[in-house]
Amino acid sequence: MKRIEEIKPLLETPKRVVITMHQKPDADAMGSSLALYHYLRQKGHDVTVISPTNFPDFLIWMPGAKDVLDFESMQEKAFKALEGIDLLFCLDFNALYRTKSMEPYLTKMACTKILIDHHLEPQPTFEYGVSDTSASSTAQLVYETIYKLGDEQYINEDMAQCIYAGTMTDTGSFRFASTSARVHRMVADLFDRGLKHEIIHSAIYDNFLENRLRFLGHSLLNRMEVYYEYNTAMIAIPYTDLKRFDLQTGDTEGVVNFLLSIQGIKLAALIIDRHSEIKLSFRSKGDFDVNTFARKYFDGGGHFHASGGHSSETLDKTVEHFLEAIKENEEQLQ
Ligand code: 5GP
Ligand code: MN
Repeated sequence: MKRIEEIKPLLETPKRVVITMHQKPDADAMGSSLALYHYLRQKGHDVTVISPTNFPDFLIWMPGAKDVLDFESMQEKAFKALEGIDLLFCLDFNALYRTKSMEPYLTKMACTKILIDHHLEPQPTFEYGVSDTSASSTAQLVYETIYKLGDEQYINEDMAQCIYAGTMTDTGSFRFASTSARVHRMVADLFDRGLKHEIIHSAIYDNFLENRLRFLGHSLLNRMEVYYEYNTAMIAIPYTDLKRFDLQTGDTEGVVNFLLSIQGIKLAALIIDRHSEIKLSFRSKGDFDVNTFARKYFDGGGHFHASGGHSSETLDKTVEHFLEAIKENEEQLQ
């Protein structure tokens, strides 16, 4: 993969560009994509952002979010936007299957594919890119890419809002190990460019409906299991819970983090039956590597301390499989 700054000559004449991200995008996927969108538009390119699926309502405030196409519900428009493009930017994921039903089309496309991402072990599909696992977020990598291209004068208030949102959520509000002087220097620069941080915190963290809080209470009271002998806590959610609390995309985000607040817990797992498949989320503290764990047992991946995977078995079977996996990892979990 050639270095990201080598795309500079490609951006010198107007191009047709699509930016895409992982399915069910979070604030980092959406924030990084929209920051790049605003930058490339200012540079005179024709840019469309396509999300493989819908995205949570709490991201609709982001400047440009209303222009994002949902591949599942707006296929005709999305195909039109993809037809004959020059450049495809892939943000906040490292393997094309993370774009779900877009994967077969993206695989076939002959355009130049560019990666901006911070997950471990990227697919060798990309001609140009940056894959930096030490970065706090993909949003930060977009910010740094614009600097590398010598174009920092384009970073405006709208872009600052998007970049801050992605970095804030991916660092757990600036507390995870990925937080560093590099992160805080960027945030200081974003303030100089007009960042308004309070509205972002309340748009993302104080914007839930009552049913989401009741679902959280129910999950902690009735669905949580703690396995102290393995320093592990787990919540397994049947599909009937998703229906009962009328959960929307994004409503289960953050639930897994509560498990890590229990004293001594090193591994937290959230297992959700989404009917089409079982989705697993892992978080860890200390030296337990959930990227390797998700890869080995659940066909997934991610980061050292945050990863995910999936399973096509039933919820009960998946939980059984998970319990066997933690037994196998008993030593590493001590
Ligand atoms: P989450 O639990 O928030 O869905 O995901 C945690 C991290 O793991 C994110 O960085 C996400 O991109 C990654 N991740 C989640 N699910 C998968 C998966 O099925 N495959 C891979 N490779 N990464 C995943
Ligand atoms: Mn990210």
